[in-house]
Amino acid sequence: MTKFLIISKNNNLLCEISECFDEHELEHSTYIYSNAEETFNFIKENEFASILIDDDIENYDILSKKIKSIENNDIFITLIYNPNSIDSFSNDFSGFIDNFIQKPICKNILNSTLNSYIKTKKNIDKYKEDNKELSRSLYQLDVLYNTSSKLSGNLDKEKLYEIMFETLEKTLSFDLASALIYAQNYDKSENKLIIHSLKKPENSLLEIIKEKIISIAKENNSADADFSKVLLEEHIKPSYQNQNLDTKLLNYDKLAAPIKIKDKTYATLLIYRNKPFSKEDVVCFQTIVHQISSPLRAITLYNEIKNTNIELKKLERIKSEFVSIVSHELRTPLAPINNSLDIVLSDNISDTTRHFANMAKRNVSRLSGIIEDLLDLSRIETGKFDFKYKKYNIKTSLDTISKTFENQIKEKEMVLKTHFEDHLPDIYADPKRIEQILSNLVTNAIKFTPKGGKIEISTKIINNNEINKGTLIAPIENFATCNFNETFINISIKDTGIGIKEEDINKIFDKFSQIENSLTRNAGGVGLGLTITKHFIDSHLGGIWVESKENEGSNFNVVIPVYSDIKAFEIDLNASKKINETTNLLTLKASNKESSGNFIKQLKEENIIKLTKNSKEIEYLENDMYIYKIYFPNLQKSAFDFMTNRIENSLKEGEYGIVLEKATYKKESEDYSLGM
Ligand code: ADP
Repeated sequence: MTKFLIISKNNNLLCEISECFDEHELEHSTYIYSNAEETFNFIKENEFASILIDDDIENYDILSKKIKSIENNDIFITLIYNPNSIDSFSNDFSGFIDNFIQKPICKNILNSTLNSYIKTKKNIDKYKEDNKELSRSLYQLDVLYNTSSKLSGNLDKEKLYEIMFETLEKTLSFDLASALIYAQNYDKSENKLIIHSLKKPENSLLEIIKEKIISIAKENNSADADFSKVLLEEHIKPSYQNQNLDTKLLNYDKLAAPIKIKDKTYATLLIYRNKPFSKEDVVCFQTIVHQISSPLRAITLYNEIKNTNIELKKLERIKSEFVSIVSHELRTPLAPINNSLDIVLSDNISDTTRHFANMAKRNVSRLSGIIEDLLDLSRIETGKFDFKYKKYNIKTSLDTISKTFENQIKEKEMVLKTHFEDHLPDIYADPKRIEQILSNLVTNAIKFTPKGGKIEISTKIINNNEINKGTLIAPIENFATCNFNETFINISIKDTGIGIKEEDINKIFDKFSQIENSLTRNAGGVGLGLTITKHFIDSHLGGIWVESKENEGSNFNVVIPVYSDIKAFEIDLNASKKINETTNLLTLKASNKESSGNFIKQLKEENIIKLTKNSKEIEYLENDMYIYKIYFPNLQKSAFDFMTNRIENSLKEGEYGIVLEKATYKKESEDYSLGM
């Protein structure tokens, strides 16, 4: 309430006015004037909002002026004046007077003045309060807005709760906030009670809060949740650590809510505040609870998917290893069976025995083909396929393949046409695997072309931009992401067979996939040939696509980069560069300081590697060895293997005394796995 002061020399006047103030229950003091200085000091020491000054005191004008000059205090001044002296007011002085009351005091006028004052004051107070609420709401809105941007994209659960408590503190100024976080399967976390408090809560209080929040949690859909074990995490403001918070807190105003989306509850919140919560506070609290539930759900889903992926990868690895072991076991007896059949066939045997022995031999060879495919696939999937790349001419492989299939083609009364360019450029490849690619494609062409059909194998040199990237099946990754190379040898294997429906073209490259038709059933096979082919091509940084029409035939096109045109890999020697999920690392260790430098210079000259602009050559001495680290961020493993192989081959050619170590960074296990 505003404090009034009435100053006069006249005690009767003071009493008269004072009575009026009493009637209106207005807090006031009276002051009998003796001298200006004392009066002014008294005013300064006490905080008055309104002063009534009698004009019978000397220099009341100077006093009023001085009162108005008190800093940060706009005191309302009323002059109790004698109308006969009104003429003596100077304009200058009247500016310091806010109101006038005439003498002698008319009680009715004073009363009505005070009434109107009280009304105005009430309105002003209400306006001030509303204004305060408004600015508080604006502040809460601002904090909530900022919280939204902090929460979005955050995948760290702990950080999320931290932001939530920070927002609760900023918007609702709680005395204590508690959150019961439920145990989650995906990260094997346990129930946790997080307490944020200004003062240290006493143990008895903590126990009660724990019980309360658990009972709220159970009411909210989690009746069957097991809260027998709850870890406690306390956060107390350092400045209040020596002060305790006792059970009086339980009498404070409180707000509670579960953090949930649909049926899944993640946590329960309970906060206490000495000052009662307003309607706006409740809305703000609900907004915060709502704000946090979406990112929490995102985190849970993200982690569940991540865990499932890890599990799937584990299963895939186990399956590949199992296939590999079983295939090895199956392969072992095939060689002696084959040898025994050879012995039987070399003997003088009846036609019937020969017929069946030959049939057995064909089936042994078919079985060993399937086993070899299974072994290849498991090696590819476990990243253990060892390619023996070298610079060579594909013409040799094309000739070998044409010869190999001569008999089969004749047997099926088919025609084989070949058109190989005279001077095919060299490629950098593993000849055995290139032959396997060609063999798979020619076998299929024969299998899926009826008797009397035609097969054409041809080559041509093409540019990168002549490849219709939209129709590419392989690359699995490399062609799309790296696409280093400009010139390719294009090998086309074209048949006049049954063809493939457009919608089936992508399917045929999937593991174990076969398109149902009469020829597939007769032809055998398990649907692995094209899967393996696709992987081999990818490992050679090449590509494959198919043009086909049902009942007209298919044309399988393979492209392999030309050796002299293989682009240098951009590498990064800046060891401080952030490692990401697909970072590969090569380490060169040399006993001689110049070796690594010379070697890298040679790799650059041979156009095998090219340093990026911001590369920094990192060289340091460790156990008497000079270490060079080269990082390959965002390079697919098969491209990395291809490039490492080129570096290894260069290393073999010169006498550098360098040891090369290859590693791929795996985010899941958070370490480097050495792969050499
Ligand atoms: P498979 O060992 O069964 O031949 P592949 O992976 O080599 O397995 O081929 C998968 C499927 O693709 C085949 O079963 C067949 O349906 C289809 N296919 C492959 N090549 C041809 C082709 N030249 N003509 C028609 N269909 C083909």
